[in-house]
Amino acid sequence: MYRIGIGYDLHRLVPGRKLVLGGVDIPFHLGAAGHSDGDCLIHAVIDALLGAVAAGDIGGHFPDTDPRWKDARSTDLLARVMEIVREKGFEVVNVDTVVVAEAPRLGPYHGAIRDVLCPILGIAPSDLGIKAKTAEGLGVIGEGSAIACHAVTLLRKCA
Ligand code: MG
Repeated sequence: MYRIGIGYDLHRLVPGRKLVLGGVDIPFHLGAAGHSDGDCLIHAVIDALLGAVAAGDIGGHFPDTDPRWKDARSTDLLARVMEIVREKGFEVVNVDTVVVAEAPRLGPYHGAIRDVLCPILGIAPSDLGIKAKTAEGLGVIGEGSAIACHAVTLLRKCA
């Protein structure tokens, strides 16, 4: 038995914040505003996982009104969500993602992101897709004011 899930997230890019994507600190002059570390790649993956098991969304599990999640590391949130996935009897087959940002270039960090995320997800590096698109200079992403990510996942019921 298989389940698919889709996730999406967007964060404003602001000065004075670190840019964290896929659990990796990316050198950049702007970072993602947010209650947690603002890791929109992980947040999109979390919503894809929760969606696949119909277990709500990231805002319901980790509300930004809760001081427990202030500056929370999204890798820790992802690990908690994987507990939910496993409690429901599923394992991850693969995850695919698209990061939409005008800058910075993420290619040099794909390996580091896989090194962080794949052990948490319980998948091989070859089972995590990471792709990047610009917004061709259009809209809030194109002007560099925001970064967004789309994610899909396939889960398989454990025997
Ligand atoms: Mg978010």
